[in-house]
Amino acid sequence: MSEVTELSNFIGGQWRPAICEHWIEDYAPATGEHIARIPCSSSEDVDDAVEAAMDALGGWAALSILERAKWLDKIADALDARGEEVAQLESLDTGKPITLARNVDAARSVANFRFFAEQGREFESETFEMSDATNRVLYKPVGVAGLITPWNLPLYLLSWKVAPALLMGNTIVAKPSELTPMTASLLAEVIEDVGLPDGVFNLVHGNGLDAGAPLTSHPDVDLISFTGGTDTGREVAKAASSGFKKLSLELGGKNATIVRSDVDIESMMPSIVRASFLNQGQVCLCGSRILIHESIYDAFVGSFLTAVTDMIVGDPADEETVLGALISQSHRDKVLSYIDLAEQEGGEILCGGGAPVGIPEAFENGFWISPTVIDGLAPDARCAMEEIFGPVVTLHPFSDDQEAIEIANMTDYGLAGSIWTSDVEAGGLMAEQIDSGMIWVNCWLHRDLRVPFGGVKNSGVGREGGRWSLGFFSEAINICVKH
Ligand code: NAD
Repeated sequence: MSEVTELSNFIGGQWRPAICEHWIEDYAPATGEHIARIPCSSSEDVDDAVEAAMDALGGWAALSILERAKWLDKIADALDARGEEVAQLESLDTGKPITLARNVDAARSVANFRFFAEQGREFESETFEMSDATNRVLYKPVGVAGLITPWNLPLYLLSWKVAPALLMGNTIVAKPSELTPMTASLLAEVIEDVGLPDGVFNLVHGNGLDAGAPLTSHPDVDLISFTGGTDTGREVAKAASSGFKKLSLELGGKNATIVRSDVDIESMMPSIVRASFLNQGQVCLCGSRILIHESIYDAFVGSFLTAVTDMIVGDPADEETVLGALISQSHRDKVLSYIDLAEQEGGEILCGGGAPVGIPEAFENGFWISPTVIDGLAPDARCAMEEIFGPVVTLHPFSDDQEAIEIANMTDYGLAGSIWTSDVEAGGLMAEQIDSGMIWVNCWLHRDLRVPFGGVKNSGVGREGGRWSLGFFSEAINICVKH
């Protein structure tokens, strides 16, 4: 039994427990072991954090963007130096494979700070000349930024918000998921170590209702950037609306993977399997509905099943492992309830459907589901329309591009999607007709951090990424001077 780590809030440069001295327990998903406890913060802690952020705002906003970019570099360097620790903590806290935690979570968290530092150095204010006047656009900080993040990519997503928020001169109150608090605390340590002025970055641990909700409704919080579920996003939007806070919502998805008849099945298969199951299917961008042209349906399904059942599910610390555990017992129960529902809806479970067979004893109390493939569901079955957010994909045939587009657009979500084809021109044309914020053709999660990131319909409001993040985390002010 390993030691239980006690984490603290980081407010105004001080490490503190919650004022009420209540705690939330944190468990390792792979083993079910109790690994940490975090402050169960309430509105009083949020008030203190917001006050610290307000106190620090003037000094931080007064720095030039180039000076703030240097701070991002320092954070990136210090985080990079602790990269293996980030990966180990993320793997422990989420149950994801260590190789994924290293290559994606740890690497991308550093990359986010480096990327936005570079964006700061390239940033240019705009001017618009008129015949008799000059317009100069200033980008001012918005103020105190409330950043709320989920558990699936904990530090990756937190750093995606912290870096541009800092760059544009805002001060921060961050509220990470109560299920994965560890690397947010590590980031606070890094920020303390590099000597960022007190109060510029504040961390409040806790659950959504006690700590998240007071942050979203706090009168002195000027901006909310939220990533999480669509139902929670609705609550966040309501809370933020009365004070007209600037709001970005990155929400759920039910993304289609469209496989056209002209695809080279074998060469595309590893990428399609990755798009289906990365992080146990717990990536908002995962393709959880695979639409396959009827002429290649049987060949595709046979090859897909071979690839899926070949994936190594097990010990997250083993470098060969491809799939780890799900985040929590209640999430596993939710995913299992969808698998039951799929059977009631007439689906056939082609593989998976429950805990992996032969999982070692050490993991018997963990939250496991082996990769699950479901055939035979109508495209408008609940399991094909609602976000499951686990290692579960449904398969659906289509007869022509138009039908594939109709099925892809059938859900209330509109986050991402991918198209697999030898005809990139046809794939590009098809992509234009899909109601989603992001479509990949012959690739998936191939990310250029400069491009807009976000969803349409119930998948979100607003865009982050590159200059969209810089715009969101600032207020563009126009000064018009008559010649
Ligand atoms: P969640 O909505 O349950 O929680 C997200 C965060 O919101 C957590 O920190 C939680 O404590 C907090 N929260 C909960 N209730 C709140 C409230 N009333 N007010 C303020 N904060 C509150 O989501 P989750 O289960 O942590 O994450 C999974 C979801 O996130 C999935 O739907 C997934 O698609 C989505 N997601 C979206 C993106 C994207 O970029 N679009 C990325 C990752 C995850």
